[in-house]
Amino acid sequence: MSKAPSLTDKGAGTAKGTGMSRHPATEILHSGRDPARQHGFVNPPAYRGSTVVFPTLDALEDYDNQPFRYGRHGTPTTAALEDALCRLDGGERTLLTASGYQAVTTAILAFVKSGDHILMVDSVYQPTRKFCDTILARLGVATTYYDPLIGGGIAGLMQANTRVVFTESPGSLTFEMQDIGAIVAAAHARGAFVLMDNTWATPYYFRPLAHGVDVSILACTKYIVGHADAMLGAITSNARAAKLVEEARATLGGCPGSEEAYLGLRGLRTLGVRLDRHQRSALEVARWLASRPEVERLLHPALPSDPGHALWKSQFMGASGLFSMILKPAPRKAQAAMLDGLELFGMGYSWGGYESLIIPFNPKRYRTATDWTAEGPAFRLHIGLDDVGDLITDLEAGFKRLNAAR
Ligand SMILES: *Cc1c(COP(=O)(O)O)cnc(C)c1O
Repeated sequence: MSKAPSLTDKGAGTAKGTGMSRHPATEILHSGRDPARQHGFVNPPAYRGSTVVFPTLDALEDYDNQPFRYGRHGTPTTAALEDALCRLDGGERTLLTASGYQAVTTAILAFVKSGDHILMVDSVYQPTRKFCDTILARLGVATTYYDPLIGGGIAGLMQANTRVVFTESPGSLTFEMQDIGAIVAAAHARGAFVLMDNTWATPYYFRPLAHGVDVSILACTKYIVGHADAMLGAITSNARAAKLVEEARATLGGCPGSEEAYLGLRGLRTLGVRLDRHQRSALEVARWLASRPEVERLLHPALPSDPGHALWKSQFMGASGLFSMILKPAPRKAQAAMLDGLELFGMGYSWGGYESLIIPFNPKRYRTATDWTAEGPAFRLHIGLDDVGDLITDLEAGFKRLNAAR
């Protein structure tokens, strides 16, 4: 395996393990760039490239040890973002992928072979579930879905051939918090690898590897890019997992282009201020929603009323701008009247950009290990960087339309 290319050699070792000498807010400004190597310019350029030429036959024949060999294995721009994310996540090695979903599939494929078994959280991002039920099943890898609230009880589901325990906390759409420490202990006792999709918190608010997770997966498309203008993923591994993930990413061939990596670097610089604002506004909107008669329940682990609050508080350093609400039952036409007239909330998938979004969802359609018993309609909201008062005004008008159309 090649050694990790690095644009910022100095102090690279501090990204290892769990220690970070400076606050993440400072770290994300200074990592992954070195103006002295860029004629003084603050940011590294987007290196567009496929072919890399070697100065000598010796260098060519020492292909595996060259920092840059071919565009598919990375450029100085992708390496810069990998360095910065690795430092933020406290990993051994970060590898970028062309999307968050490709980070998920590449990370899982790094560990399994035919005849193996994986444990998958029932509240996982839906495409991850589809991957398990189609491609993984065809390759002879069995998946068992488990209750996100299982905690140490996961030990009872471990089989001799269980290679991976996949976690995502909080869960997609429904925001259940997982007891990561208990799951890591049970999985490691049986030699399995623990993977975590950490897209909701990002390593700015939760650092999975510091909690024993082996592989931290990030859809950079969301908060790292932060402006809804690029697709990008990242896999950060600890020393135990790094070689296997490196082999999988190289062999499956998924490296993003430098333009995308550049947008990731650009977004990373403002991650701290954006997340702080998303967090504050989302909590304010959630508290306002909790006071509304139309709302049955909120799914937001940073609210003290949430069943996952204690776990969130003990593990996480913050909450992002994404949460869900369950309304009291209302006919579809009333829901449509509410959603169709919203002026600031767009209806669309994905999230993590500056804009506010809302989508309906129904976990009854896909859950298999747990029952979804809520009767009323469920909506996921992404609270963007809009003025929070304007957002509440928009939702308030929405409730007026909902009530008028019943
Ligand atoms: C969006 C998302 C992904 C996939 O990321 P893409 O970049 O859209 O492929 C994976 N996991 C979670 C939790 C997500 O929200």
